[in-house]
Amino acid sequence: MGGTDMTSAVGSGSPRGRSGDLEDGEMWKAVKDCDASCDGAFLYGVTTTGIYCRPSCASKLPERQNVVFLRTREEAEGRGFRPCKRCRPDLDGYDPAADYDHFHRQTGMAPARYRQIFAAGISRLVVDTPIGPLRITASSNAIMCVEQAGRELQDAGEEAPRVPADRLVCDDASGELAAKCKAELTEYFAGRRTDFDLPLAPEGTEFQKTVWNQLGRISYGQTRTYGELAAMLDNPKASRAVGMANHRNPILILIPCHRVIGADGSLTGYAAGVEAKKYLLDLEKRGVV
Ligand SMILES: [Zn+2]
Repeated sequence: MGGTDMTSAVGSGSPRGRSGDLEDGEMWKAVKDCDASCDGAFLYGVTTTGIYCRPSCASKLPERQNVVFLRTREEAEGRGFRPCKRCRPDLDGYDPAADYDHFHRQTGMAPARYRQIFAAGISRLVVDTPIGPLRITASSNAIMCVEQAGRELQDAGEEAPRVPADRLVCDDASGELAAKCKAELTEYFAGRRTDFDLPLAPEGTEFQKTVWNQLGRISYGQTRTYGELAAMLDNPKASRAVGMANHRNPILILIPCHRVIGADGSLTGYAAGVEAKKYLLDLEKRGVV
């Protein structure tokens, strides 16, 4: 049985194994330092919890005597360890540090908070749309992000997890939410949906959240100028700040920042490009099929 190896390692204290050219001492140092440069070189299991991790994992440092070093995922799972939900050592090509960075850039969420939510369960899906692939990120209770996915994804179209784990579907509420969001976006692009029926949790300052809230009050097929939006907030002088908040919207389409246009009717900037914005406004102008 897989579990027996795991417990016997406790008794042996330091396992004999090596991974690549690294000595136990070097691997332990990498674990203590959360050294991302060692990710891929080895994994480690914690015998007291039965969890295995990447060297860079930000989880609590285990006691040295409870750590065993492992060469591969197969070895870890063969010995009865389960993958850590924070660093996801079971996902090939997933780079937690790059993922935290990316998500922080997209949403401004502090990495520590993101790690916490990630550990509780996050799912991601990419939906192909006429304005290009969009990446959905859902926690177990809300949609956190809908962003433009890299062009390279159009060629991928595979199950292969990429950085930052584009197709990561958990068998929990986050997986259900991501799938529901994908279905609703598909209906929207088919001209069969004007409103989204999903809980949203955009990360931002109070002011940004107020602006995003107001955006939700601009109906399908309508537009407002930045000035009008500022007036809706009872703060007519804030149109520049409103414009910036609009631009920082982390949940494209569901929070309809594309419905805000320049005072002269110009389309102004859009995170997914002005062409995409024009496409969305034209789609909505045609009305529901
Ligand atoms: Zn971990």
